Amino acid sequence: MYDTHQLLRFHEFLRESFPHVFNCSYIETEVINTYSLLFTVTGSTPELQPYLLMGHMDVVPADPTQWTHDPWAGLILPDTVTGEDYIWGRGAIDNKIGVMGIIMALNYLAKTDFQPTRSFYVAFGHDEEVRGADGAGHISQVLQERGVTLDFLLDEGTPVISGLMPGFTVPTALISVTEKGYMTLQLQVEGEGGHSSMPPQDPAVSRLVAALNNLALNPQPSLFGKGPEGDTFTYLATKASWPYKLFYSNLWLFTPLLEMVMSRSRESNALLRTTTSITIVRAGVKENVVPSSASAIINHRVHPAQSVEDVIQHDLAAINDPTVKLTVKQQMAAYPVSPYGPDVPGWRLLTSAIHHHFPGAVVAPAVMMANTDSLHYLNLTSCIYRHYPIHLTKKDIPGIHGSDERLSVTNLRQATRIYHRVMVWAGDAAGPPQHHQE
Ligand SMILES: [Zn+2]
Repeated sequence: MYDTHQLLRFHEFLRESFPHVFNCSYIETEVINTYSLLFTVTGSTPELQPYLLMGHMDVVPADPTQWTHDPWAGLILPDTVTGEDYIWGRGAIDNKIGVMGIIMALNYLAKTDFQPTRSFYVAFGHDEEVRGADGAGHISQVLQERGVTLDFLLDEGTPVISGLMPGFTVPTALISVTEKGYMTLQLQVEGEGGHSSMPPQDPAVSRLVAALNNLALNPQPSLFGKGPEGDTFTYLATKASWPYKLFYSNLWLFTPLLEMVMSRSRESNALLRTTTSITIVRAGVKENVVPSSASAIINHRVHPAQSVEDVIQHDLAAINDPTVKLTVKQQMAAYPVSPYGPDVPGWRLLTSAIHHHFPGAVVAPAVMMANTDSLHYLNLTSCIYRHYPIHLTKKDIPGIHGSDERLSVTNLRQATRIYHRVMVWAGDAAGPPQHHQE
């Protein structure tokens, strides 16, 4: 399920590369469930509520034949156009940027012997890509047994990105405050089988095809503005160019128009609504036999403003055929929306740290389309923020879980600075400096 040998080698690498972390009087290191790591950094004022920085050490597989350079060689190469140095490799972004950025910041803290005011935890899980039960699940258990509650946590998530939407000339720093839910349904249809020379009137396959077609023709409703995605626009509106500024700051008027435009691209459509993907279709074993049963698997990603029951009711109404049996295989509602805005201390700290190092960027709340390890920490805090403190362009995104994943060295430095900034500012009783942006 995961490469335990490589995980242990990675532990070794961290110990050798960051001796200050492992030999620091106020940092305790623990191995959790053999492969995960938990660091407890004790601040000088332990009464302050701690927070958590997290990342995961595992990666998804890579097919070297699809890559320009060996995904496992750890190469640092100049970009052929800009000459800028890039770290190439599987996991360069997802999620070594979190793990390396955090531990480099921590190492710097220990090396300069700067004991922060506020205590915090650093958690590196080892199986996020396979749902995190062994890693983050166990770490969370340990923290809960110790009675720990967190002010906030920062996990991997959405980056600082350029060219996100029309009308935005400045980079957008997206902090995801929720994740879409996840639901898998099975459709099963039974019918008359028999020889293909004498087909039945109403075969199972035809009814399944009609059901799937009805789902495609009747997408789940747009819920634009009912979840945090509306605020993404409200926050960004101040920095949008004309005429987009007008649209984004008057959503009450322009929602129908925006919905129409956004429905046309698969990325922005996924922001609007619960998405429906038909991922598996099965029927038939032989060319001259009519199959007596047919089945399909539907994968939904549930919008934060919709319940899983509503999604099912919509599907049943769209299919409109009682002979199609619908079974729920797996379901998880969208995560609770974490509080955000200038009055929320954790949010204010993160946005200040981001502004400090990306002064031109505008920060906005967002909805994460994928799921992360933060699932396991829902009991520990209501303030869960998902963000990569790195500046990407849209063309960097397919590298994540795809081929040619790479990250500029500048970005790694920038991420390290932001994590370090959080560690230093988090203890300041007065909070980080206020910004005028929101
Ligand atoms: Zn990840």
